Amino acid sequence: MSAGQPASTNSLEGKSPYELRLNQSVSVPESAVKKALESGDMGFVHSFTTGSTVDGPGVRVVAWTAGCLWRCLYCHNPDTWSLMNGLPVTLQRATQEIAQYRHGLQVMHGGFTLSGGEPLMQDRFAVKLFTAAQAIGIHTAIETNGFLGERLSDEELEKIDLVLLGIKTWGAEKHRHLTGKEIGPTLDFARRLAARRRPIWVRFVLVPGLTDDPEDLTQMAKFIADLGNVERVEVLPFHQLGRFKWKKLGLDYTLDDVKPPTLELIKSTCEIFRAEGLKAF
Ligand code: SF4
Repeated sequence: MSAGQPASTNSLEGKSPYELRLNQSVSVPESAVKKALESGDMGFVHSFTTGSTVDGPGVRVVAWTAGCLWRCLYCHNPDTWSLMNGLPVTLQRATQEIAQYRHGLQVMHGGFTLSGGEPLMQDRFAVKLFTAAQAIGIHTAIETNGFLGERLSDEELEKIDLVLLGIKTWGAEKHRHLTGKEIGPTLDFARRLAARRRPIWVRFVLVPGLTDDPEDLTQMAKFIADLGNVERVEVLPFHQLGRFKWKKLGLDYTLDDVKPPTLELIKSTCEIFRAEGLKAF
């Protein structure tokens, strides 16, 4: 099969990102995967969803990419960790998928968001897709953990109108425990975006007993406020919607007994960010 041909007839449109999708690319030869990653002419996408109002401003089309190096304990999409679970989609087809909603997205002050997984695992595809979307007047956003931000040149950053940056917790050790990776590259990416005045919305998942230490949150809030380019902090309550995926994939899920945060905890967490002059919801 050539790199330009989809391996599967699966629908691009997913019911939601919580739909379990596996092995959509197993028949794509390794050489074609490598070529696709290098060129960005084909991407590996879990699914597309339309009409999202929670993945950036306005109403949005969201593409959920496959591939992530992190292993967040609360990840609700562990089926997106493997690139092979993504459906191979040509750049042309992905662009068409977005372009068909162009008018509606503009009317509803929305746009296109690339999420995942970690979209910068497929940085060439991401840049080409953002370039194509921007060229037809569609607002672009990326939801990223920032770890691979160095893969983007300064010029390429201009193709992204908004970065939804996941800051998972505070402190080197806690970050390694929660995600399996270092926090440094994420913070470096945030600083770089700040230096270039690229807008950020920070996304933070509030997990009782795991990410709710007020001292940590205060430090995180100070860092975010000092950046000067963060338009809002979204405090996302932990939930158990992705637990079934861990079980189906035979993964060891350690948060079985963790409850979603109470309203009081959500409010007090938002207050910590607001105390540093940030907008927090
Ligand atoms: S960075 Fe996102 S996709 Fe990757 S493991 Fe963490 S929550 Fe899951």
